[in-house]
Amino acid sequence: MRIDKVLANMGFGTRKEVKKLLKSGVVRVDGSSIKDAKTHVNPDEQEITVHGEFVEYREFIYIMMNKPQGLISATEDASDMTVIDILQPEDQIFEPFPVGRLDKDTEGLLLITNDGKLTHQLLSPKKGVGKRYYAVIDGEVTEKDQDAFQKGVTLDDGYKTKPAELEILESGATSEIELVITEGKFHQVKRMFESVDKRVTFLKRLSMAGLELDDDLELGEYRELNDKEIEFLY
Ligand code: URA
Repeated sequence: MRIDKVLANMGFGTRKEVKKLLKSGVVRVDGSSIKDAKTHVNPDEQEITVHGEFVEYREFIYIMMNKPQGLISATEDASDMTVIDILQPEDQIFEPFPVGRLDKDTEGLLLITNDGKLTHQLLSPKKGVGKRYYAVIDGEVTEKDQDAFQKGVTLDDGYKTKPAELEILESGATSEIELVITEGKFHQVKRMFESVDKRVTFLKRLSMAGLELDDDLELGEYRELNDKEIEFLY
């Protein structure tokens, strides 16, 4: 990879700024000063330093966020803050994006990465990746709803959902449930409950693809996935 691309990717400025940096002679590769932006380097095998500081190069970032309500699951939005806006600048450098969407008023596990291949795998309808939600429901959730969700319900646009596991935690005028779905239709959980005449008043994602939301993360906090977790998702 060209040295100017490596440095730009690692946050040393635009390609133009990086070119200037290189010209100033502060960049060394395996100890030799490199001034030509077109020089090809292998960041995995060669030691790159800027002002004598070692540059750790990596291509991908994998983040688990406990998304709070009020943020949009997108990279940018004209009027609202996005989940990317609350990342530290050193993480934004990687140009990550959310893996799928949680509604503005939904909380919980959101994966954020710049790895398109993994994103595709996790979102591919063919893979049927499981997502587990906790929800508070206005209305009494019953075994009848469990059966209906297991068989598949028809949403307002005529779509019939795939079998979904509904667990009733509390049933009454207000109910609490956990639901596992293997699809990601727009507002799916809310619309599934609408189809049985009930309303979701609180929604939180607890896990995705078997990866559980880390209890230590407060709302709005995030951390990088460890190697084991990344391997597990792949
Ligand atoms: N289903 C919804 O209705 N909303 C979400 O944010 C996620 C799943």
